[in-house]
Amino acid sequence: MYEVSKCAPQEALRDLDRAFTNFWRRRKKNQVGFPKFKKKGRNDSFRLYGSIRVFEKAVQLPRLGRIRVKEKPQIKGQILSATVSRRADRWFVSFCTEEEKITSSLADGPRIGVDLGITSLATLSDATVFDKPRALTKRLRKLKRLSRQLSCEEKGSNNRRKAILRLARLHWRISNIRLDVIHKVTSYLAKNHSQIIIEDLCIRVIMKNKLISRAIADVELSELCRQLVYKTKWYGLKLIIAHRFFPSSKRCSQCGKIKERLSLSERIFICESCGLQLNRDLNAARNLVTASWTETENACYEAGGYSSSGQCSSMKQELNFSQT
Ligand SMILES: [Zn+2]
Repeated sequence: MYEVSKCAPQEALRDLDRAFTNFWRRRKKNQVGFPKFKKKGRNDSFRLYGSIRVFEKAVQLPRLGRIRVKEKPQIKGQILSATVSRRADRWFVSFCTEEEKITSSLADGPRIGVDLGITSLATLSDATVFDKPRALTKRLRKLKRLSRQLSCEEKGSNNRRKAILRLARLHWRISNIRLDVIHKVTSYLAKNHSQIIIEDLCIRVIMKNKLISRAIADVELSELCRQLVYKTKWYGLKLIIAHRFFPSSKRCSQCGKIKERLSLSERIFICESCGLQLNRDLNAARNLVTASWTETENACYEAGGYSSSGQCSSMKQELNFSQT
């Protein structure tokens, strides 16, 4: 107890308190699970307050003293706290700072509809397509091999320790590749538009569909939605989440006719009444942007109330159709 800063256990208890509060508050909606036990060696991180100072190539933390860092810290504003965390075999320190943020909102910028998908990460209504990083798919074989190697090593041996590290580094790299792309997409969307319209995907339910769950997990759509929510707040624009039952995929974006059935394998949308032929995702994105969301204010809700694992009474419409 005396070796470590008093902040570390204090902050851990504070986190636990918040975890339990969230759990009890949202238990009925089945949104937040019971807090997970945290042990040394798994998601290592701790938060520190107090005399935190930043030098040219070092940081000073309470009780730990001066620690050299690889990257030059660039801190703006007043430091409130520092969080030390571990990824694979590297340790990171991140600072929470306070700073006045000047939001320059693009009030007259264009509206944009975004269709999040499986074949591409995001299709915008202006026909821009962001490709999937396919971080996991490309490395699945390597991941399998490393996992197998790990399982063959004797428990407690040095080789096992090394195998664990190799696997951890690969997982880390996969997650970095995903995050990089997602950050780029969400920053582009938030910086250049005045209004973003996305679909309310019920990711937790989609994840139960074994055919597409890995493809969805590989793009981390929930992370993308989370970033969109906070980045739209940062840059002062409006995020509209279309209701789950809005027929974005089945509606023709030119004449407005709604198709009876549309299977997941139909990648090109063909309208029988006006003869429109368009990429399925682009058609959906255009539908999102042309619909007048002011009329159906009840059907959609603003950012903030969004949660990727929201109450899921039914699966996303087009998925239902592919199964029946
Ligand atoms: Zn049509």
